[in-house]
Amino acid sequence: MYSEKESAEVTVNNFLTKIKHYYHPTEEAAILEAFSVAKNAHEGQFRASGRPYITHPTIVADILVDMGFDVPTICAALLHDTVEDTNVTDADLRTKFGDEIADLVAGVTKLDKIQFHNKEEEQTENMRKMFFAMAKDIRVMMIKLADRLHNMRSLMYLSEEKQQVIAKETLDIFAPIAGRLGISSVKSELEDLCLKYLDRKAYDEIAQGIAMKKAERETIVENFIFQLKDKLKESNLANFDVYWRTKHFYSIYKKMKKQNKTLEQVYDLTAVRVIVETIKDCYAVLGSIHDKWKPMPGRFKDYIAVPKRNMYQSLHTTVFLDYQSHRYPIEVQIRTYEMHKIAEYGVAAHWKYKEGVTTKTEMDETLGWVKEVLSYDKDFRDSKEFLNLIRKDISNTNEVYVFTPNGDVKILAAGSNALDFAYAVHSEVGNKCVGTKVNNKIVPLDTVLSTGDTVEVMTNPNAKGPSRDWLKIVTTPSAKAKIRQFFKRELKDEYIRTGKSMVERDAKHRGISPSELVTPEAVAAVCERYMLANADEMYAAVGYGSLSLTQVMLKLITANKHVSDAIKAQQVVRSRKPVNSKEKSVIIKGVEGLLVRFSRCCSPVPGDEIVGYISRGRGVCVHRADCPAVKNMEKERLIKAEWANTSEQTTFSASIEIISEDKGDIFAEITRAIANEGLPMTAINARKDKKGNAVANVTVEISNHDQANQLITKLKSIPAVINAYRVNG
Ligand code: MN
Repeated sequence: MYSEKESAEVTVNNFLTKIKHYYHPTEEAAILEAFSVAKNAHEGQFRASGRPYITHPTIVADILVDMGFDVPTICAALLHDTVEDTNVTDADLRTKFGDEIADLVAGVTKLDKIQFHNKEEEQTENMRKMFFAMAKDIRVMMIKLADRLHNMRSLMYLSEEKQQVIAKETLDIFAPIAGRLGISSVKSELEDLCLKYLDRKAYDEIAQGIAMKKAERETIVENFIFQLKDKLKESNLANFDVYWRTKHFYSIYKKMKKQNKTLEQVYDLTAVRVIVETIKDCYAVLGSIHDKWKPMPGRFKDYIAVPKRNMYQSLHTTVFLDYQSHRYPIEVQIRTYEMHKIAEYGVAAHWKYKEGVTTKTEMDETLGWVKEVLSYDKDFRDSKEFLNLIRKDISNTNEVYVFTPNGDVKILAAGSNALDFAYAVHSEVGNKCVGTKVNNKIVPLDTVLSTGDTVEVMTNPNAKGPSRDWLKIVTTPSAKAKIRQFFKRELKDEYIRTGKSMVERDAKHRGISPSELVTPEAVAAVCERYMLANADEMYAAVGYGSLSLTQVMLKLITANKHVSDAIKAQQVVRSRKPVNSKEKSVIIKGVEGLLVRFSRCCSPVPGDEIVGYISRGRGVCVHRADCPAVKNMEKERLIKAEWANTSEQTTFSASIEIISEDKGDIFAEITRAIANEGLPMTAINARKDKKGNAVANVTVEISNHDQANQLITKLKSIPAVINAYRVNG
C-alpha cells in the first residue's frame, strides 16, 4: 500500500517495477503506452493532496494489478479519468487502444456521473444504471471500486462536508457491493475508512482499545498458534500456512452496536487462519483442532459444504484455549489457498487464473446475481421499494441455510420466511403454495427461518395464486418480484377478456358477427398497424385502454373486405331513412310529456305488446314485452305502455333476420319480396353463418305488427329460406 506522503516518483516507480514482474513484456508495453498517454494528459493537474494527478490513476491501476487483473483493465484504470478531465477524447482512446479499453473507460466515466447522495427518486434510476454497467462488464465496477478505495485513502485532503458525503455514499453503496462481489479485502478497507470519517469517536476508541491489549492478545494467540503448528505437523499435511489477524474495525464496531457490548466484551477480536492445499486437509485440520481444544457450541460453520452467496468458502470454529488459568475463546478459519484467493478478491479472483485453470461457474454465479437484480428491476421501476430492497439485498451478508425435505440446501438472506423459501424453490411452488411446514410442523407463512430448519411447502395445483397480502409477507426482492409478475400476468388475462367482449359487443352492435370480423387476416392487419404480437395483445390493449375500441374496430373492418362492403351498403341505405315523429304513438299510463324512445334491441311496432322503461335521464324507452332485455331490468322502473290509436300514418323500424340456403340470387329474391309488400327497406346486412347458410338482417319500415307478420310469412314462402323472424335482443 502507498502512503499519501511518499513522492510521486516512488509511487510511479513501484508500479512500473511491479508490472515488469507481473506481466509478459508485450503486455507490459501495452500498459506503459496507456501510462504515458495518461501521464501526458494529466500533466499540470494535481490532486487535492498536492501530488501530481497521475499518482491517482497509477494507484488505482496498482490496486487492480494486486488483484491480478488483465491488461485491458489495467490500461483502462490508468486512463479512467482522461476523457472526463483532460483533452483526451473517447475517439482518441478507440483509435489508440481499441474498443475494449475505450468501452471500459466510458463505463467508468458513466458510473462517475452517478450521484448517490441526490434526491431519493433518482436513486432507483442510479442503482439501475449501476447494475446495468456491472452486467455489461463487471470490470467497470472493479475499476470504480479501486478508484473509490484510493479516493477514500486520500479523503483527509477534502473539506469536512465532502468527507461526510463521500464516506456515507461509500458505506451505503460501494462497500456493500464490494462485499456482495466477494472482494473482502476492498470491502474491509473501505468500511474502516468510512468509520474513521463517520464516527471518529468510535473509531478512535476501537483503535486505542485494540492497541492497548495488543501485547496481551498477541501473547495468547501466538501461544495458540505455536501449539497448533505442532499439532498439524503430526498430521502430515503437505503444505500449510497459519497466521492471525485482528478483525477489521468496522466488523468489531458492528458487533458492539448489535450486541450492545463494550470492546472488552467482544471476545473474537482476532481470527486465526489455517490455509491448506485441499478440501480434505481442511476437514483433517478441523478434526485435529477439535481433538485438542474444546469447541464452543454453536460456533461451527461449514461454508465449504454450503458456500455463501458471494462464493466465500471456509470452515469456521471457535475453541477454548486454557492459558495461565484463564479460558480464552479463539476463532479459527480453515480454507484452501484457492478459497483464500476467492475470499480476498471474490469475482476478481478469476483474472488471477487467466491461464485457463478456473471454471467459469463462480463468475457466472456472481454475475447471475447482478442479472437477477436487473430482472426484478423491471417490476419495481420508479419505485422506492426497489431501491430499499436492493440496498437490503446487497448489504445483507447474513444468510440462513435451510433444507428441503429431500435434504437439499437452500441459502436465503437472513430474515427470510417460509413463503420466501417457497418462492426460492420455484415461482410456481410459491404461487401454488397453500401452507408451509417447518421441521414437520405446520407454521404460518411468515415464520422466520433459522439455519438447519427443514422446510416443506404444501402446494395445491388448483390454488388460485398468491394473494396481494403476500407482497407484505415476503422479504426477499426476488419473491416480491415473482408475486408482482404473477399479478401482471393475471391482470393481462383480465384485460384480454374485457377487450374481447368489447370488440364482440361492438361488432354485434354494427350487425357484424364477431367470428366473421375477427379473422386471422384482420387481426394481422391490426397487429401490424399497432405493433402488437397477437390477438391477445390486441384485446389486452383494448381492454386496458391503450388502444381505443374505435381504432381497432375500424382497422378490423377495413381489413375485412366482405364486412366493409356490407357496411358501406348499409350506410347508403341508412342515409335514405325517413324521419318520423313516433313519440305520439305510444301512451305511457299516468305520465305525460315524457320523451319516448324505441328500443333498438327489439324494435317494437304497433300491435306488439309493449312495456316502458324509465331510463336515467333519457326518458322512457319502449321495448316489446317479450324482449329478453326486459327480464334483466329493474322492476320498479318498468311502466305500462300501450299504442295510441292515432290516425297519423307513422312507420316503425322492424328488424327481421332471414336464414336461407346460400344458393342462387337469394338476396335479390328477399329484397324483391320486401319490395312487393310495398315496405321501404332501410338497411340490409348479409353474412354467412357457421353452417354456411346465408343470413340477412333487414330493417324495414312498417306501420304495425300485422304488417311484420305478413312479411315474414311471405319471406318464409321463398323455397331457399329456412327461417325468418323478428329480431329481439
Ligand atoms: Mn478517479
